[in-house]
Amino acid sequence: MPLVRNTSFFVGSSESVCLVGESGSGKTVTALAIMGLLPLSFRIKSGSILFDGIELARLDQNKLNRIRGRRLSMVFQEPMTALNPVFTIGSQIKEGIAAHERLTSKELNRRTLDILERVGMPDPQTAFNAYPHELSGGLRQRAMIAMALSCHPDMLIADEPTTALDVSLQAHILGLLSELRRGSGLALLFITHNLGVVAQVAERVIIVYAGKIVEEAGVFDLFDSPLHPYTKGLLESIPYFKDGSGGVDRERRLKSIPGNIPPLEAIPHGCPFQDRCGEVMDVCRRIEPTEVSTGRAHKVACHLYG
Ligand code: SF4
Repeated sequence: MPLVRNTSFFVGSSESVCLVGESGSGKTVTALAIMGLLPLSFRIKSGSILFDGIELARLDQNKLNRIRGRRLSMVFQEPMTALNPVFTIGSQIKEGIAAHERLTSKELNRRTLDILERVGMPDPQTAFNAYPHELSGGLRQRAMIAMALSCHPDMLIADEPTTALDVSLQAHILGLLSELRRGSGLALLFITHNLGVVAQVAERVIIVYAGKIVEEAGVFDLFDSPLHPYTKGLLESIPYFKDGSGGVDRERRLKSIPGNIPPLEAIPHGCPFQDRCGEVMDVCRRIEPTEVSTGRAHKVACHLYG
């Protein structure tokens, strides 16, 4: 049973692209497929994952290991489960660097301290010697980012890296990622379900629903003129600030999207969003909409268009 299908997108050098959708929409599976980290029971049945011209989907494990962690890195949602609790932060970062580069012990220590400083660790030496449980949630996430950036990758996939953090730490981490991206030409694929986060980090946004891309547009275009009923529903469910007033628009009622994302075995024939869509038509129950371009690099998969 396909978890992700008809999914095609690219991320350019220095670009920040957000993959947005509810839990269960296939965002993390897409990221794990790119990284070659799918669980053993999953497989890529067809299609292609190109990284700088290299076909990742059919690359052997040795070649993939040389790219993964060096040119292509990932930050996971929950650092406590991604970091090894029995090794210090310093030794875990050094291990990642040593897997790809021949450096002396002194050089490894220097590089590790440098990267901890670069991600804004207040006391890099203490963090270097600390075990994961000795750091706060925000510092652990910084350590994860440091680990992911330690070999100066060309692309970083960040899977909901701020979900477990409070709002101020979230802002710190998002600012840090944007700064690092601008400073190093890093391509960023950011996975989130939070449109507030999207507004802060994205240049381009891809909306996914039930394992399929339903809309793709530049961030301003998407927020100004959403097309897909699902995207509209997501945007109508977040509070807006009144223009120039500095306050939340309290007269505007927040809406919710009725129902839930269908389980895999119950995705209906035709449009997967039909049971939750207020604009559903007969054709939606018969034919699955394909992606159409509406101009200005804005694409949508819905029978209301094209
Ligand atoms: Fe709604 Fe039909 Fe568009 Fe699906 S294709 S989002 S059901 S209008």
